[in-house]
Amino acid sequence: MNLEKYNEIKNNLPDHVQLIAVSKFKPATDIQMLYDEGQRAFGENKAQEMKAKHEVLPKDIHWHFIGHLQTNKVKYIAPFVTLIHSIDSEALLQEVDKQAVKYDRVIPCLIQFHIAKEDTKFGFSLGECETMLQGEVFQNLHHVKICGVMGMATFTEDMERVRKEFQKLHSIFNTLKEKYFPNNPDFKEISMGMTDDYPIAIEEGSTLIRIGSAIFGPRDYSQMLSPEI
Ligand SMILES: *Cc1c(COP(=O)(O)O)cnc(C)c1O
Repeated sequence: MNLEKYNEIKNNLPDHVQLIAVSKFKPATDIQMLYDEGQRAFGENKAQEMKAKHEVLPKDIHWHFIGHLQTNKVKYIAPFVTLIHSIDSEALLQEVDKQAVKYDRVIPCLIQFHIAKEDTKFGFSLGECETMLQGEVFQNLHHVKICGVMGMATFTEDMERVRKEFQKLHSIFNTLKEKYFPNNPDFKEISMGMTDDYPIAIEEGSTLIRIGSAIFGPRDYSQMLSPEI
């Protein structure tokens, strides 16, 4: 845990940018330590892990789901999740809506776009997203709220490439805002930027940065199946 780095990031954030501390693979004790520093927004990428941590940690934590979410796991997080960053299919959005109905909630969501060169990263293209937004299925979902877009840049040292990808996500945001959400103040978030690229993401208009290893240190993937909580 690097509290000095945490405070440095936090103290240099523009007012319109929120820091999500990505605590995946890290024990609840680490989250509690950062909570005690004042941090409230945490990001996780496994539904059951998020649920287990939610159960043992303070109830005013804002839980952000940032990874690929399988439809059959939405139920674990639907009662409490603050924002799902990673809507990557219409089927997933439908399931989130269905679970939200059960808990009498409207769940805030971001649409994930595929902006990277790698084809391992999930997400919509602009065309696919527009097809969804114009379709009848989407029109009938009343328990999800689309609050913006999310994307991950290519894992590369070529920072000009990363910058172009963030610019592309920002331009997708502008297009969608203009065409589908012009009078909707909820549609305002651009979730982009991680440990290695967040300064560029902020320059390119990010409103939510998702930072893990810079704050919590490197992740130990050998503990993947049994997170100590
Ligand atoms: C793990 C993860 C992060 C944080 O990555 P760091 O490089 O450790 O800051 C951000 N976003 C997503 C979607 C992640 O899976």
